[in-house]
Amino acid sequence: MNTRARLRSGLEALSIDNADNVAEQLLRYRSLLQQWNQVHNLTAITDDADIVTHHFLDSLAVLPHIKGTRVLDFGTGAGFPGLPLAIARPGLELTLVDSNQKKTRFLQQVVTTLGLKNTEIVHARIEQFQPAAKFDTLVTRAVASLAEQLALCQHLLGEATTLLAMKGDPSAAELEALPPGFYIIEVVPLRVPGLDAGRCLVHIEKTES
Ligand code: SAM
Repeated sequence: MNTRARLRSGLEALSIDNADNVAEQLLRYRSLLQQWNQVHNLTAITDDADIVTHHFLDSLAVLPHIKGTRVLDFGTGAGFPGLPLAIARPGLELTLVDSNQKKTRFLQQVVTTLGLKNTEIVHARIEQFQPAAKFDTLVTRAVASLAEQLALCQHLLGEATTLLAMKGDPSAAELEALPPGFYIIEVVPLRVPGLDAGRCLVHIEKTES
């Protein structure tokens, strides 16, 4: 199966609306990623098919779990999971934060080239980021342990905010090491089309005070 067909079939398996248009946008994003990656080290995943499964479809598998419209992806790197979410769901308002300026420059270029109106790129350390309004959902992938992530972003978590941390196979020790004031609602297995590796989503909220 060629890359376009693999992407198209993955989008269908994930029930993504407007799949033709989403696939076109993602393929343009992939070209920019491969182009920039020749000069800047943005991602270790460079193969056409792997970008589709490990980056695009993996990011989109989280879509049914997003709550509300204001979504923050911190430690987004080359835009995962935030940018595929913004492309697939124009009704979401995405803010993508990373402390690495070459990555946020790349992301700004993708947003401009694809004409994405629902995505803001912020170059900042998350612990210093002070948004004007709270987010409905914070989503992360491969940023740090759960306890470290919560320490970095606790100023952004209100009682109505959901944190969704994408993980491979978190250990019991990691799941049990949450700081006081937070609890795990559920650990949801994620099925990513074309990817055999174990993936899951840890859903965390703040306890009511
Ligand atoms: N989420 C992306 C993915 O799954 O492909 C990137 C993961 S990469 C391993 C971690 C990213 O977190 C890096 O791009 C790094 O610059 C960023 N990062 C680490 N600490 C950060 C902080 N305190 N604030 C914002 N970004 C941070």
